[in-house]
Amino acid sequence: MRAAVVIPSEKSVKLVEWPAPRPTGGAEVLLRTLEVGICGTDREICAFEYGAPPTGESALVLGHEALAEVVEVGPDVTWARPGDLAVPTVRRPCPSPRCPACRACRPDFCVTGDFSERGIVRAHGFMCEAFVEEERFLVPVPHAIRDVAVLVEPLSVAAKAAQEFESLRARFKFDLPQPAALVLGAGPIGLLTAMTLRAHGFETHVFSREGEDDPRAALACSIGATYVSAARTTLERLPECVGRHDLVFEAVGVPEVAFGALPALAPNGIFIKTGVPARRGPVAADLSRWMYDLVLNNQVIVGTVNAGRSAYELAIRVLEQCMTLFPREVRSLLCRGPLEMAPEVLLQSRGIKDVVTVDATAFGG
Ligand code: BGC
Repeated sequence: MRAAVVIPSEKSVKLVEWPAPRPTGGAEVLLRTLEVGICGTDREICAFEYGAPPTGESALVLGHEALAEVVEVGPDVTWARPGDLAVPTVRRPCPSPRCPACRACRPDFCVTGDFSERGIVRAHGFMCEAFVEEERFLVPVPHAIRDVAVLVEPLSVAAKAAQEFESLRARFKFDLPQPAALVLGAGPIGLLTAMTLRAHGFETHVFSREGEDDPRAALACSIGATYVSAARTTLERLPECVGRHDLVFEAVGVPEVAFGALPALAPNGIFIKTGVPARRGPVAADLSRWMYDLVLNNQVIVGTVNAGRSAYELAIRVLEQCMTLFPREVRSLLCRGPLEMAPEVLLQSRGIKDVVTVDATAFGG
């Protein structure tokens, strides 16, 4: 079968012939890949700045945002049946008996760092025609959202953030007004988060570098958010122009923005960071001002990575809601191309969310 791989030692990204997956046993499921989304993490891996092949191997099969169809199941599988749609989760538990998170199957909270991530670190991904996965790492997806279900994995980042936000807000034992939210970044995660927030009735601002005439700005406005372009409003003037927010969701991966927006956080506010920055030198910052604000305003800054199964399940429900409220906007995020184009699209983005469509004829497609 064909697979899109990165070979860091050769500094290459290419489509190669790859061994077909082995037959399933136990609680394993054989799936044929339908679609795979591409994100900033994939592009960093393809720039050889992040990620790693499995130990002892030189190539890594790319792709962690997949939608697939069940082809064959092992004897111990409980729910998966041929023809079902499923999204695989990304992170796999570390082996340490002393990692309470991984032992509880919450590798997104792994404490050892020895986890693997399919298509990212130490485990092959899904940008190939078929793959085998344990059933416990698959999340079933309704056929009704098949055409957009490749967005479940990126949406699970927003879903986990929503879970974190809810649990942090639960510490207030008094009535709170409907929170106002600020999303930093109008990439796929930022826009999907803005859709999630709008679907839940939050007043939402989206702050990003694109100009006001950019399609991302139009998309934000058409879901009922207010778009604020960094070209017109600087980060420093953000609180003065749009007020302070109970929730700030960061999806830019740039420390200057991720911390520079702290003054836009309201008292008792929660600032959620999801961007993974490129490793650079230290960044100058007014630490005493931040500490003063954080302490005197009971503010919380929380980082969140990856997502446990419940976040994927929530993402599926949110996607269904968004498809009822904003079907045109959700679909307009996607820019599809065939697997043959994967190496090119991995290096140069074409749309808001690039998606590789895999036509796996060898696996019943
Ligand atoms: C993926 C996460 C992963 C993170 C860091 C993101 O793009 O969605 O699953 O944990 O990168 O590797």
